[in-house]
Amino acid sequence: MAKATSWSKPVTKALRADGVRVSDLNTSATPGFKGDKRAGEQLLAERADLLSELQERLYANGRHGDNRSVLLVLQGMDTAGKGGIVRHVIGSVDPQGVDHAAFGVPTPEERKHHYLWRIRKQLPRGGQIGVFDRSHYEDVLVVRVHELVPPDVWGKRYDEINKFERKLVDDGTVVVKVAMFVSLDEQKKRLMQRLDRPDKHWKYSPNDLAERAYWPAYQEAYQAVLDRTNTEYAPWHVLPCDHKWYARLAVTELLIDALQGLKLDWPQATFDVEAEKKKLARA
Ligand code: ADP
Repeated sequence: MAKATSWSKPVTKALRADGVRVSDLNTSATPGFKGDKRAGEQLLAERADLLSELQERLYANGRHGDNRSVLLVLQGMDTAGKGGIVRHVIGSVDPQGVDHAAFGVPTPEERKHHYLWRIRKQLPRGGQIGVFDRSHYEDVLVVRVHELVPPDVWGKRYDEINKFERKLVDDGTVVVKVAMFVSLDEQKKRLMQRLDRPDKHWKYSPNDLAERAYWPAYQEAYQAVLDRTNTEYAPWHVLPCDHKWYARLAVTELLIDALQGLKLDWPQATFDVEAEKKKLARA
């Protein structure tokens, strides 16, 4: 049976962003993991149980006033598999403990506000795992690539984002940032699958195709994100996503690591357990 020892090094180390060149990334690699797809899927099933238990502890502590939370930030190009992570990784935990938010093109209302306004509204409450499918990083990615605001405006955002995340961490949120990458070839394959299958047409947007032409500009923008916002308190993890099984396993491990770091015990009962047992036996 596959064991946690299938990892040759901790996932946080295997995926660390320090020194990564986005343009040189091998998106079909499985950093730190020694097994194949079968071993990965088997391990994922086991580790999902642990993730679920840890999440329940977080939730239970939240119910008892603990304000700590975890925020998973998923950033990636179309077809990188953000939705699959949400379904397969986050889907293995109790939905009442998850605050999920997806960030698309800002609404007219959102446009009236600072770009962090809509982000702040969706931050996880104490005891919750927050999941951002896209995030404030769009404001230095798509916005930079398409020059939706002038360079002196987006240029200031990196420092601002660092400050924002510093405060978030100081207030008790563990921030797990994951930059997801597929190769252009893999993206083409996935887009073609969407076109081939009527049940996947809803996922396809002709705009996805147009965005492929901007891939070098996106690579540059992602590089700047990694160079300028990879802080020690909220580090980036660079996730090769050509193998979906690996991406899902790796994010599961990242969340387990984040939750274990909180060293959560089950909250103490606020009532006399023995007395309650006696009363219940008589009831
Ligand atoms: P998805 O493609 O993830 O299923 P949507 O189609 O609803 O979701 O929205 C994603 C699109 O919204 C992407 O093209 C993304 O670049 C864009 N987007 C997200 N945030 C912003 C932003 N702040 N400014 C402009 N476009 C944005």
